[in-house]
Amino acid sequence: MSAPVTPRRKRRNLQSERKARCHRLYSSDDVIKLYGISRNTLRNWIAAGLAFIDGEVRLFRGKDLNAFHARRRQRASGAPLPPFMANCFGCKGAHSLIDGEISIDPGRSSGMFRASTPCPDTGVRANRYVCSEEVDMIRKLREANPGRETRD
Ligand SMILES: [Zn+2]
Repeated sequence: MSAPVTPRRKRRNLQSERKARCHRLYSSDDVIKLYGISRNTLRNWIAAGLAFIDGEVRLFRGKDLNAFHARRRQRASGAPLPPFMANCFGCKGAHSLIDGEISIDPGRSSGMFRASTPCPDTGVRANRYVCSEEVDMIRKLREANPGRETRD
């Protein structure tokens, strides 16, 4: 069975990197419903590197789904976007949680944290809710980031 490639479908359907919930497990049907995709698209995602747990029923981790879409968006935009950005209500932009000053506080639900960084333009804090695995990743990336700014 060769995969038919329809030349009409040129447009890449990029999905939100925040749609899935970090700690949730999704069945194939859940994933299809969540993103409004076909079974074929899900097969393509798996072929493109979407991680899953292989068992009696195939399961997908929310954080793997989000990471997969974050990678795709990053590649599509061509810009080396840092993997962790916080949405800012002050300037309507996004600020990196890898550079500059951040704080990490416990979130409203257990296992969730609020990472925040002050907006350089407006001073309001840009927040992003992350799970403990993401907190670890942020910490690692900050340690590995050679261009990290230090406060005077
Ligand atoms: Zn801002």
